[in-house]
Amino acid sequence: MKTNSWKKKASTIALCGVLGIALHTAIQPVPAAHAGVLGGVIGTVIQGAAVYKQADATIKHYDQTEEGRQELFAAYKEKYGVSENYYRKQQLDAMMPRLTRGIAAVDPSINKKPYLYFVNKDQSFNAFCSMGHVMSVNEGLYSMTEDQDEIAVVLAHEMGHGQKNHVASSIRKKLNVAIGAGMLGSAIGGSALTNLALSIAVNQIDTVSITKKDEWEADNLAFDYVVNAGYNPGAAAAIWQRVEEKYGKSKSSFAGEIFSPSDHPTHQQRRDNYVKKLFEYSGKHVTAEKGVVKVNGKALVQPVAANDKSGAERSYFVLGNLAAAYHNGHNKSNAYASGNTLMLGEQPIMTCYSGDPSASELADLLNKIK
Ligand SMILES: [Zn+2]
Repeated sequence: MKTNSWKKKASTIALCGVLGIALHTAIQPVPAAHAGVLGGVIGTVIQGAAVYKQADATIKHYDQTEEGRQELFAAYKEKYGVSENYYRKQQLDAMMPRLTRGIAAVDPSINKKPYLYFVNKDQSFNAFCSMGHVMSVNEGLYSMTEDQDEIAVVLAHEMGHGQKNHVASSIRKKLNVAIGAGMLGSAIGGSALTNLALSIAVNQIDTVSITKKDEWEADNLAFDYVVNAGYNPGAAAAIWQRVEEKYGKSKSSFAGEIFSPSDHPTHQQRRDNYVKKLFEYSGKHVTAEKGVVKVNGKALVQPVAANDKSGAERSYFVLGNLAAAYHNGHNKSNAYASGNTLMLGEQPIMTCYSGDPSASELADLLNKIK
């Protein structure tokens, strides 16, 4: 009976998507093997403050021991299913070490706890990072974007949560709430606590309450991580432009019960935060507004929609390349056309498609205003 009552209560605990986007999987009941343990508490009975101490030890097990995080990793694979998309697996296998090196440049603690990751079968647009640097990417992420730089931003955001332990502290709070509400009954065994912690982590990862402050921190870290890993930092603004275009109008229905929009930065706020960061990164030389890329306040180009991207989304990639060129000193060299690509020194800036100005026209203009 106790099992049923905590399950019901647990399912009503505050909801929030990892990316502010719904993971549509329903909350599953605790697996049968675990339910049995919860139903009949065996072993040491612990009470009062000792319970919370034990809860901390349980979190520490999953978050900080190799044994614990491997258990968590296996539990996620069982719950979400491992994707059979070999291409995506290979791509992730190439991207994770690159991002790891980028993060290690500013946060060497990553070397002590490398990420455990897999692509799961869920078709919604999401990714998550749990305790113990256990991470998973939904197959559905790739139907939102196939762009590697944009995918890198999503991974880097999740790794920002991981590096700052946002999820472990959130799960610890949930566990403490569950204990406080008497969800385990008056007598609590250590094994029941362990199973409750695992169940909260695995079955409610899509509903772990990440605070707005933590979301901003993960977004800001993601920017530094993708820069250090050598991805186009403009992709950080571009992905949120893309999400806004694909999901913005249906926000209320798509947010559903999973997260409260008032608790989260909006897609536009997240995009605009990145545009500001790009402006700063460029030494205050380059920005983009309403699809127009501006250098020193003067319009350079308004890209057309091409290559599966809107004009606005493309403008942020151009902004990212220009910001990197300024940051790395390539702006001291001349702009020129290399085939269809506008170059600034050694830095490619924009590949021109039908409907865009030509690369040589853009090079002439950029040399005048840069
Ligand atoms: Zn997040």
